[in-house]
Amino acid sequence: MKAAQICGNLASDDTDEQYPVVAYCDECFERLMLAGEDSVIVNEVSYEASHGDECHSCEKTVEDERLEQEGS
Ligand SMILES: [Zn+2]
Repeated sequence: MKAAQICGNLASDDTDEQYPVVAYCDECFERLMLAGEDSVIVNEVSYEASHGDECHSCEKTVEDERLEQEGS
């Protein structure tokens, strides 16, 4: 699991809404990083449980990802 600060609601007065930190599964994170300038990712941050246990993009959970990695 990864986490990243992304471009959120820039019209908001709240920094947490402008650049929220969300969780991504490894797959989506890599895909978004490769998107370069088109990517919504502003900064990579280290994943913590407080970022949630579900991928912001595909809704894969930490548990799903763990099972996938164990199965391979
Ligand atoms: Zn994902």
